[in-house]
Amino acid sequence: MAVLPIRTVPDPVLRNKTKRVNSIDKSIKKLIADMRETLHADPGRVGLAAPQIGVSLRLAVICLPEEGEKDIILINGEIVRRKGQRLVTEGCLSVPGYIGEITRSESVRVKGRDQNGKEIRIKADDLLAQALEHEIDHLNGVLYIDYLESMDKLYKIELEETQL
Ligand SMILES: [Zn+2]
Repeated sequence: MAVLPIRTVPDPVLRNKTKRVNSIDKSIKKLIADMRETLHADPGRVGLAAPQIGVSLRLAVICLPEEGEKDIILINGEIVRRKGQRLVTEGCLSVPGYIGEITRSESVRVKGRDQNGKEIRIKADDLLAQALEHEIDHLNGVLYIDYLESMDKLYKIELEETQL
């Protein structure tokens, strides 16, 4: 396993639409292991999508910061339903040094597959809903800064806070 370097804006790989994962072979399993290690390399990291480590595949890992939380491995994930709207503060590993104020859904439903290829459905609100929307956006070449109403809603930060 290896901690992989994070791609940051304006790296074009962050803007590519990713390809679906067709079979969970050895190379995908290794990629998942490396992404999990990269996610846990820094305690502020909550989620990581494959384009952030330079791979254009529909694959993301999420782990909420609470103690005892397990990694969520999401293969071919997509949002099937969104409900409500709320204002959130968001940061991204690929946009270092900033956080922004944007609107996200109150809750989402997501479907995809786990690392064994088994179909999973996730109902989420709060930070998990935000993380799922953020990581699935990455798979579509979208960054949270695309949702900023104006540059006044983007703030410079000294310390890295929660990063997705
Ligand atoms: Zn991000």
